[in-house]
Amino acid sequence: MIPFNQTKIVCTLGPATESYEMMKRLVLAGMDVIRLNFSHSTHEEHKERLDMLKQLNEELNTNVASLVDTKGPEIRTHKFEGGQALIEFGSKVTIYMQEILGDSSKFSVNYPNLYKDVTVGGTIVVDDGYLSLKVVDIDYDDQIIVTESFNTHTIRDRRGINVPGMTLNLEYLSDKDISDIEWAYTNDVDFIAASFVRRKEDVQAIRKLLDDNGGHRIQIIAKIENQEGVNNLDEITDIADGVMIARGDLGVEVPPAEVPVIQKNIIAMCHRKNKISITATQMLESMQVHPKPTRAEVSDVANAILDGTDAIMLSGESAIGKYPIESVEVMQHIAKRMEKEIDRRALIERASSNVKNDIASNIALSVGHSVFQGQANLVIAPTMSGNTARLLSKFRPNTMVLALVPSAEKARELALNSCINAIVFDLPTDTEVLVQMSLNYVKEKGFVTNKSRVIITGGFPIGTPTNSLRIIDIG
Ligand code: PGA
Ligand code: MN
Repeated sequence: MIPFNQTKIVCTLGPATESYEMMKRLVLAGMDVIRLNFSHSTHEEHKERLDMLKQLNEELNTNVASLVDTKGPEIRTHKFEGGQALIEFGSKVTIYMQEILGDSSKFSVNYPNLYKDVTVGGTIVVDDGYLSLKVVDIDYDDQIIVTESFNTHTIRDRRGINVPGMTLNLEYLSDKDISDIEWAYTNDVDFIAASFVRRKEDVQAIRKLLDDNGGHRIQIIAKIENQEGVNNLDEITDIADGVMIARGDLGVEVPPAEVPVIQKNIIAMCHRKNKISITATQMLESMQVHPKPTRAEVSDVANAILDGTDAIMLSGESAIGKYPIESVEVMQHIAKRMEKEIDRRALIERASSNVKNDIASNIALSVGHSVFQGQANLVIAPTMSGNTARLLSKFRPNTMVLALVPSAEKARELALNSCINAIVFDLPTDTEVLVQMSLNYVKEKGFVTNKSRVIITGGFPIGTPTNSLRIIDIG
């Protein structure tokens, strides 16, 4: 049986996991969402992965969703001879604005104005902070930056570059991002993770592009990865559907000790506003090469879950690592254990601090309390729009919330919401028939026993806003 996750798992696909067989194993291990990283690969390669996912969802009767992660206004290196280069401590490394094939003494970047934005004595940070280069000279005529390496590191193709403290003069939406977003709505993906969001206008620009082209159903996850994004978090979370705590770039752009503080703030803010939060990057970093995580990594995943994150994410671990399946299994194992430890009372309280004064929200709050007090083992939520399920997710009930939705699209739209298991269900207009059918279904699937108590909640007749909470004892 495909595992049900309260805490959702996002897996970045890459060379390690792009075969049908590997993707299938990821789904069976508990992957909820695939992440297509548009900093890498061609449209054709991503299309192959997406097509495979569609096929897999059919074969396994699952609703694994897809997320397109934009490249964003970011600077990256170009390629290296043989795909990588060893840059040694103290060596001179020249950075070119014109594309060249890099080696251990030179490479080029995709941002032609970089030499204008940096200053002698400043630092250029490469590959999530693994390589630090000190700017020793800038040649404005030849447009090159001469640097000296602070440390030794093997760098691979297309690594990210940060210049901490520098405000880039880059437009938010590049031509590449626009064409990638076009690809996303043309191919009916479910989520867009918007890289390097700095202001609400960045999210609005993507929203407009989607809405103007029939992509209304696509949700936008704002990636917070620099100080400006952190400063504008409140306005960004008002507009976006969720936030990714992009700790890789964030930890380079702001002092690393700020990252856990920012992580907790983002998760709490998203939770209060009922937006999705994804904790990302380096969660099980060492599993790229080892079959077991470090103790510190286990604690990191655990703490994100205890903080109340909706989803946790694998990057290199599943894209290029040696142990992608094991990484999902480890994440899931930690999640299952931590879900027993989550302070549900505190989470309900935090969620309640910002509840709308409408009937739907208050019914969801009651469901949350009922489950917390041990009065139900399963919540069934028939919902046409998915809203009832979203409201329930906020109260983090320690049960499965089985969302019965009319289409696979709707099911995938709920793939990142904590505690939700969304399935496609025939939703008859007669409420009693619907209740009976859903009870038959959960019995048949073994989701309940003779002693179970089930809550059915939703808007009845189906299609109306949430207006009902019914408690039913099985058996
Ligand atoms: P990236 O984003 O993997 O696209 O860089 C995540 C991060 O920066 O943490
Ligand atoms: Mn990033």
